[in-house]
Amino acid sequence: MVLQQLHENTSIVDRIIKLKKERNAIILAHNYQIPEIQDMADFVGDSLGLSQAATKTNANVIVLCGVYFMAETASILCPNKKIIIPDPDAGCSLAATINCDELRAWKRKHPNAVVVTYVNTTAEIKAESDYCCTSTNALKIIDAIPSEKEILFAPDMFLGAYVSAMTGRKLHIWPGECHVHAGIKPEDIMKLWNRHPHAEFLIHPECGCVTSCMYYLAKNDIPSQRSYILSTEGMIKRAKASPAKEFVVATETGIIHRLHKENPGKVFHPVSENAVCKYMKMITLEKVLNSLENMVYEVKVPGDIASRARVAIQRMMQLA
Ligand code: SF4
Repeated sequence: MVLQQLHENTSIVDRIIKLKKERNAIILAHNYQIPEIQDMADFVGDSLGLSQAATKTNANVIVLCGVYFMAETASILCPNKKIIIPDPDAGCSLAATINCDELRAWKRKHPNAVVVTYVNTTAEIKAESDYCCTSTNALKIIDAIPSEKEILFAPDMFLGAYVSAMTGRKLHIWPGECHVHAGIKPEDIMKLWNRHPHAEFLIHPECGCVTSCMYYLAKNDIPSQRSYILSTEGMIKRAKASPAKEFVVATETGIIHRLHKENPGKVFHPVSENAVCKYMKMITLEKVLNSLENMVYEVKVPGDIASRARVAIQRMMQLA
């Protein structure tokens, strides 16, 4: 049964590779994608990395194996390329916590405020923002805003609280959260802390998945020795550079595949087996094949929204 599945996957991957050449396409995959997708992608990275890879490629078509807002970001940054997502229903519970009407109403209450939104938002929300940010660069972005300015920060409340604590700035914070990171509790970290006394703890500050942990760390509810707050790329680098042989990884479990692959001989434990993003797992090899065969599903952000959203993203990229 396993052999048969492997054979079928190999055949699908062969067809994907052939079609990719014919279409002059590139496949970008987020770190939280299923292993089969990561293994056949041209590039695997975090949401910022995917955006950067999209702007660098000469391919005409980008197959974005991630969630919808990531395909929108690629469309915003690469308006002349065809961006396709294998499953258009791959959403994001965090991005869904705020809509454009809600943001506009919030802005009306604070007409002089600077709006900073996490990259995990829709294109419309980015278009209403002054700056985008990721968890990795959020502190830099907030620090770059003059201290007398009022700031609206959306949509992740844990990241907002962490940024506020670290910068000493009072922020207006939208009460949004991601269903994945909301499930990771400090108790989960503490349980593994005692069970793996020699392990390093890699806590991911991106994508909202462990922003609650960042918040608890800032409050000293979890100890800071042996703990590193890192982007997924930072995790990969730290795992390679560290003398430690064992790591506990606090993020969506998809990253474990890449960590194992790039660090043979080291052991990685997910902080929670339940930290699984059902949206990220909606992309399958069969759907990627379908997307290249039929050139579906195209994600095209309308020009006026894209040009306003691009300003917020580019400001972030310049500061980061
Ligand atoms: S893990 Fe959370 S923030 Fe990341 S894509 Fe999934 S729902 Fe969105």
